[in-house]
Amino acid sequence: MHDWEVNDLVDLFARLQHCHINLQAADKLKWGHQKGVYIVKEGYQQLCSRNPVIANWPWKLIWRTKLPPKVVFFTWIALYEACLTQDNIKKRKIQFPNRCYMCKKEAETPRHLLLHCEVASELWSMFFCLSGINWTTPLTVKDAYESWSLWKVDKAIKKIWIMMPACIFWCIWLERNKRCFDGESTALGILKTRCTENLFSWTNLYPAVNAEQLQDFTNSLALA
Ligand SMILES: [Zn+2]
Repeated sequence: MHDWEVNDLVDLFARLQHCHINLQAADKLKWGHQKGVYIVKEGYQQLCSRNPVIANWPWKLIWRTKLPPKVVFFTWIALYEACLTQDNIKKRKIQFPNRCYMCKKEAETPRHLLLHCEVASELWSMFFCLSGINWTTPLTVKDAYESWSLWKVDKAIKKIWIMMPACIFWCIWLERNKRCFDGESTALGILKTRCTENLFSWTNLYPAVNAEQLQDFTNSLALA
């Protein structure tokens, strides 16, 4: 036995202490405390109870939204800061100079690309201005997503509000890949409009048909 296994053994003995063994009955495999049948929900709860990172993960803020599944998935990866930015690719032993495709100044990391890069800051600022709030961008992607999503806003715009960070992440990621793989870049103004259009279509499940409709939508996002 290894040292790192001792705690598990003590834990096992503590559990067995309360078990009454029927020596006459045949052995059989049994799961959990209920009927002995494995239930995914129960397995997940047990996993969460032993892992504070999973237990505190803001999955409801991501999965209970009207975001398209591919955006939800990317947001999930982004919150783990595991999207394939250059720093994460370099961890796979692939060597190349790391430079952000957006600002071309700093090394590309999920935090830089999605939060602190000057292009990302412009998109965040757009939503600050639309909403009329002052916000200091947190250090990590998860903290930024959570603190934004938990901001107290009117119930009427709550469902739109919690999609804004994912909308920014998705726009930046598409633009980053366009610059990386196609060598083409989008002007900042167009990028901002595209970001708002995405938010509109995810909210209403149809695209905005004209500029007035989009303007009315952005006006409705102002906090009272
Ligand atoms: Zn940058």
